[in-house]
Order: sequence, then structure tokens, then C-alpha cells
Amino acid sequence: MMAQYLALKAEADDCLLFYRMGDFFEMFFEDARIAAQVLDIALTARGEHEGTKIPMCGVPVHAATGYLQRLIKAGHRVAIAEQTESPAAAKARMGSKALVNRAIVRVVTAGTLTEEALLDARADNWCVAIGEAVGGVALAAADVSTGRFVVIDCTANALGAELARLGAAEVVASYASGHADAATTLRPRHDFDSGAGEARLKRLYGVATLDGFGEFTRAGLAAAGGLVAYLEHNAKGALPFLRPPHLTRAAETMAIDAATRESLELAQTAGGQRKGSLLDCIDRTVTGAGARALAADIGAPLMDRAAIEARLDLIHHFHADDAARERLRGALRALPDIGRAIGRLAAGRGSPRDLGQLRDGLDGAWLLRERLANEEQTGLLADLLPRLTGHGELIDLLKRALVPSPPIEASDGGYITAGYDAALDDLRDAGVGGRRAIAALEAEFRASTGTPGLKIRHNNVLGYHVEVPARAADALMKPDSGFTHRQTLAGVVRFNTPALHDVAAKVAQSGAHALAAEAAHLEDLTAAALGSRDAIAATADALARLDVAAALATCAIEGNWARPHLVDHPCFEIAGGRHPVVEAAVAKSGDRFVANDCALSETSRLWLVTGPNMGGKSTFLRQNALIAVLAQAGSYVPATSATLGLVDCLFSRVGASDNLARGRSTFMVEMVETAAILAQATPNSFVILDEVGRGTSTYDGLAIAWAVVEAIHDHNRCRCLFATHYHELTRLAERCDALTLHHVRAREWKGDLVLLHELADGPADRSYGIAVARLAGMAPATVARAKSVLAKLEAGRAKTGGLAAGLDDLPLFAAAQEAEEQQCDPIRREVEGLDIDALTPREALDTLYRLKVIA
Ligand code: ADP
Repeated sequence: MMAQYLALKAEADDCLLFYRMGDFFEMFFEDARIAAQVLDIALTARGEHEGTKIPMCGVPVHAATGYLQRLIKAGHRVAIAEQTESPAAAKARMGSKALVNRAIVRVVTAGTLTEEALLDARADNWCVAIGEAVGGVALAAADVSTGRFVVIDCTANALGAELARLGAAEVVASYASGHADAATTLRPRHDFDSGAGEARLKRLYGVATLDGFGEFTRAGLAAAGGLVAYLEHNAKGALPFLRPPHLTRAAETMAIDAATRESLELAQTAGGQRKGSLLDCIDRTVTGAGARALAADIGAPLMDRAAIEARLDLIHHFHADDAARERLRGALRALPDIGRAIGRLAAGRGSPRDLGQLRDGLDGAWLLRERLANEEQTGLLADLLPRLTGHGELIDLLKRALVPSPPIEASDGGYITAGYDAALDDLRDAGVGGRRAIAALEAEFRASTGTPGLKIRHNNVLGYHVEVPARAADALMKPDSGFTHRQTLAGVVRFNTPALHDVAAKVAQSGAHALAAEAAHLEDLTAAALGSRDAIAATADALARLDVAAALATCAIEGNWARPHLVDHPCFEIAGGRHPVVEAAVAKSGDRFVANDCALSETSRLWLVTGPNMGGKSTFLRQNALIAVLAQAGSYVPATSATLGLVDCLFSRVGASDNLARGRSTFMVEMVETAAILAQATPNSFVILDEVGRGTSTYDGLAIAWAVVEAIHDHNRCRCLFATHYHELTRLAERCDALTLHHVRAREWKGDLVLLHELADGPADRSYGIAVARLAGMAPATVARAKSVLAKLEAGRAKTGGLAAGLDDLPLFAAAQEAEEQQCDPIRREVEGLDIDALTPREALDTLYRLKVIA
């Protein structure tokens, strides 16, 4: 057995090995130590290997799912080795000392789960592979629980942003990418070969050419091929259920990098919770599939105006018609998750209950279409409704075959309804008849032995047997009694008799045959369902889309949101904008949220927002970024009106001191992230910068903030909201013509600070820092001391000209001038003129020598 175990363990590689032994999965050696610790179960020992005891622990098979979940959560991967023959078959093959054959039937990893219990019903579960080829990078992402499969062409720059958007449960690559939060599973290089990938995809879909899916890039083929190879590896050769790949480019959606997602708290708060995020705040979906689709929409706002308008039209439809919306939501609420049910069936892990869910879900979809039939059907609705139907035959079949609520476990049978199969009914009748005969025998034996306490019982060792109290056993012990003694226990004695044996054999046989007949039906019904799995998946998608639209309409009505107006030039005009999450929090504490306008245009692209701490600057910045996300995700927005030109990249950065939890040098992080904006933002981008430069000394910070504002204004020319407490920055308005000054208003009233959270034009008159400190409950003595220190500092500043003293000496177009000087640098010119790919190594070396001479 050890030899078999070690061979399987070698095959399992770095996975923990669940080794099936009867009713348990056992783990040995280091696996046992790890599992015992993670699962908090007893570590025991068994036998010896090379002179030392073998550590061992085990979990019962019937409860394995829960243990698996904890191991996966803790970052492990688990290979499952099942017994592939029965002990009886092994005995027949090898005699009494037989070892049953075992094989790894599946590798369970975070990215390849299908079990309902292991998945979050409201979140996608992506396994993502990274592929590279000359000329590009691509990601392939599959959610095997629903069969969704996308291939995304992107740039090396955008890789991190795309991984962050997908929130991958598992990343597969031939090298450690450093981009992913999720654990990266390393796979051999040749799995990611684009030629082999193409062949693998053709085999998977049974096609001679991939042209029907659209145009794959080499990198796309490499990524998709690598992913399929990994899924096949995990399923031990069984082809994964993947729907036809959807080919996209990262450029088709708004680029939102990981830092921006984190700072805007789109799907998760900074603490990693869904609660408190934008998604959580606006999610009114009533199905798991709807919640997953909404999360995907918010994560990937669109760049295609027509597609956005189509979504908005659908929301408008349900926004305008309360009755239709409530009808739809009521119907959806009752529907099972057919996308995941078909996913499990396709993965070979389906149960009778999954078929029952398909029956009820598809039937519900059909009913829904009937109910929506008399509504005006245009646009997306006309497109979606036909996808809800077309499953009549399958529904009929499942209705005829299955009992009303089929069990999850197939092994006990009982899910095929009576009347579906006459032969099965006969077998069941025989079983029932047999059980009746056994009951009759019991009565007969009681009478003939004169023992009212006699019972006929069943267990796995003896099968059916007669049991009597010990004191009544003597009569049955007699040789001529017709009973054969089998077992004596404390208090009871057990016997067998030929009459019982015959009846029991019949019961067992008809039972086994009935189970086999049901299993055959299960297989047929599963095959019938899988025959239309693509259409079923399309129905699931259509239901999810309807759920999202009705949910966003509900949210818009509740929050009094407006339909955004999209235009072709880069403007951003919001009237009465609000931050949905802060608004909800403020409302909870009984206050009113103050709505604020924002108007960015060609002539006023960059707003510099000053004002006291806690005055509402961050909130204002973020609410506008969120409005851009919501609008392009195809949702109404929290404002009274909104007109905006599409945003290609969204950036949000918060000054370092807000992010202390991160560990790395926070100022370094802030600078790296800010540099990324300056390198990437285009005139169509939208940038919010909150207190950038705060993480370092005052002079450094002011200088950096100054240079960043100049660069954004002069070079990136994007729409930008910049909040700062460096009052000195307001002097930039003198030199930057598209920069305007704004502040959040505050009043001091009878010595108290009142924050109005209201935006006004012009710079703030002062910083109110000490007033805020008092507001925060700082002791009066400390506040008084701070006041006198401030007075001294301000007196000193007046004498030296203050923090901004040197600013008057800066050349007016400083940044531009410095850039021009750099242009004149001969080495720089030479390097910029190089076509590195076209150089031979020899030429490269020569060039280096030449540069050295110039230097
Ligand atoms: P700042 O960035 O200026 O320090 P914040 O935007 O973090 O200020 O806002 C501080 C707090 O003020 C928020 O947590 C919220 O409770 C409240 N607040 C902000 N904006 C508003 C608003 N528009 N209306 C009502 N309360 C607001």
C-alpha cells in the first residue's frame, strides 16, 4: 500500500493527497502534519516507513467538502485519489491480500471549483492564465463553475489592472508574474506555446479552425492554450466545460488599475470586505448570477457608447414601469442558479438536484418570457427574451423523469419518479414486496418461536438477520430450530435462517438493479441536458442581465439617480452629485448629505480643491470617479444630471499617510503609483489625486505636488480633481490656464468649526487645522498650546517669505523648459533614435562605445 501511496503522491506533486480508504480520505507524512494543523484534527501514526512511524490524519468522505474548503482557503491544492475498483473486484483479481486500485481523479484548486458549498454564490471564480508571445501579452480567464471563458489581449502595462479587475482566485503562468494577489501556479513553458494552444483549442471545441470565434492573437492562443492545459491536468484528462471563448481587448473597457480599485473601494473596502464597497451599496440583484454579472459590470465599465446606451435603455424600461419591474424581480427571486448547475453537470460532478434545478430554472425562464411577452420589445429586451425559451423538450423530459425535489446524493436512488420507467417500477415493487415479505416473516417467527421481542434487522456486516433478546435465545440455539447462530452481543443474539436469506437476497438484488437503472437514467438525463449546455448557459446569462437591469433600476429609484448623458468630447458636468456609500452612512447617523456640482471642460480641466480636513474633499473626488464608473457600466448615477465624455483610464491616488496598513514604504508606493499616472493618462482619462505629496517632508511634498499638477496640466491634459492642503499650490492658477480653484466651505461660529461639505469657487481662506483638532476632541490645553506655536510659526513665515518664498523665482514654464533642455542632450537623442530590435549584438556593443565617447 505504501508503494501505491508514494507513487500517487509523486504524481500529486505539490498538492496535498487525499487517499481514499473506505469511508475516509487519509493523509500521510508531511501532508498529514499540514492538514492536521489547518483543519485542527488529530494527528495520529500508523505503521512504519524506513524505521519511523508514519504521521497520519483523515477526514470522513461524507464531510470532505467542508475540510476541502478550509484547505483551499488556506492556499493549498488537493489531489483526490479514489478507489477505482471495489474491494470485491480487487479480491477477485488478486486474492485475499488484495490492494484496491486507486487513481487521482481530480485536483481541487481555488480556481477550479464547481461545488456549491465551496463557491460564493454572488461572486465569479476566475482561473486566469497569462500568455505571452512576440508582440503582446494576453490573459485567458475561465470560470469553470459556469463555463464562462474570456481571452483578453492587453499590454504588459495593463496586465496588473486586468488581473485586479478579474479578482482571480488562481493565476496560472510559466513564471512568477509579480502582478497577481492570488497564488500563482507555475506550469511548464510548453503548455503556453501558442501553436500547441491552437491545437488544444481546436480539439476542445472539435473545430478545424478557430476563425469562428474571432481573431486570436498569438499571445491569446498562448494564454488560452495554457489555461486549457491546466484545466485538463486538474481534471485528469477530462475536457473542461468551457463555452466558446469571448475575445476582447483590455482597451474595450475603462482601464482601472489595482491601486485605483482599492482606493475607490469598488468591489471591496480597503479592509478586503465586500460590505461597505460601492458594489455592496448598490447591489439590489435577487439572484446569484445577477450579483456576479453586476460585479463584472462595475469592474469593467465599457468604452462602447452604443453598448452602454443599450444597458441604460433596459434600465429605463424597468425604471418607468414599476409593475413590470416587480413582476420580473418576483419571478427571478424564485429561480435556481442554472448557470452553476449546468457547470457542475458538465464537470461530471452533477447531482440529481442539479437536474431538478435546471428543470425549475428553465421552466421559470419560460414562464417569465410569457409574462413579459406583451411588453414593448426593443433593443436589449428584444435580444434577451428569445434566449429565455427553446428548452421545451428538455423541461418536459426532466419533468416526466424526476421527483419534485431530487436529492444531492445519487447513490441512494429515489430521484426517478414512478411511472417514468416500467422496468424500474417493477424492480421497486419487487423491493417493496420483498420488504413486505420480510415483515411477514418477522410475524411468523415471533409466533413460531413464541418470542414477541424477536426482530428482523439489517446491517452492513450480516445483512438481514434475526435478533432476539439473550434470554430468549436458547430456543433458537437448538440444532433443529432452523436458525443458525451468527453473533452474540451484550443482551442480544443474532441468527440467520434459509427462508430469510432467500427473501433478503431478492430484496438486495432488486434494490441493486433499481439503483443501477436509476443511475443509467441519471446519465441519460445529464447527457440530454449537456446537449444544449450552450443554450442553457445563454439563458442563464439573459436572466442575469435582466436581474442586473431591474436591480439598477430599483437602486436608481430608491436613490433618486439620473440617467447619464454620454457625449463625444472629454467633458464632465455633474449637477447635484453624491457619493452613494458616504450618503448611506451619513443618512444612517441622521444627517443630510450635501450634493455638489462638478464641471470639468476644455477650459477648466483641472480642479484644485482646498479646504479643511474632514471638509469633504476626498468624498467629492471619489463621488465623481464613481459616477464615471457607474455611467460607463451602464447604470444611472447618483446625481440630478450628468453629462460626460467617455473615460478611457481612471486613476485614483491617495496620499501615503492614509495607507499606513500597506507595509511597503508608503511614500515609495505613492510615488510609484503617481508616476504610473503621469506615464499613462491621456486627454480622455480621468484622474483624482488626494493629498499627493503628503507622505514626505513639507518642502519635498509641496515640490512634488507642484510638479505633478504641472505635468498633468501641461502634458497629460486629462480631466483631474486634485485635493491638497498645500495652500501654496493655489498659486499655480497664475500659470496654468485650464486650472481652476475650488474649496470646501467651513465656518467658524462662536469659536466652533462648522464643516458645510459644500463646494465653492476660489481657494480656501485658511486651513482650520487647529479648529479641526478641537472638533476631534483634543484637550483644550493642547489646542491652546498648538495655537501659540502656530502664531510663532506664522510670524517667522512672514519674515522669511514663508514656505512659498522660493516659488516666485521659478521660471514660468518650468517643466516645459526642463523638458526642452533634455531634448538637446545628444546622448538622449541618440538613444531615442535606436531601434533596439534591429541591432545585432555586435552593433549594440559598438553603439555603447560610441555613447561612451560622447559622454
Ligand atoms: P477630507 O477629505 O476633506 O478630509 P472627507 O471627504 O474624508 O474629508 O469627509 C469627511 C467626512 O465628512 C465624511 O466621512 C463624511 O461623514 C462627511 N462628509 C463628506 N462629504 C459630505 C457631504 N457632501 N455631505 C455630508 N457629509 C459629508
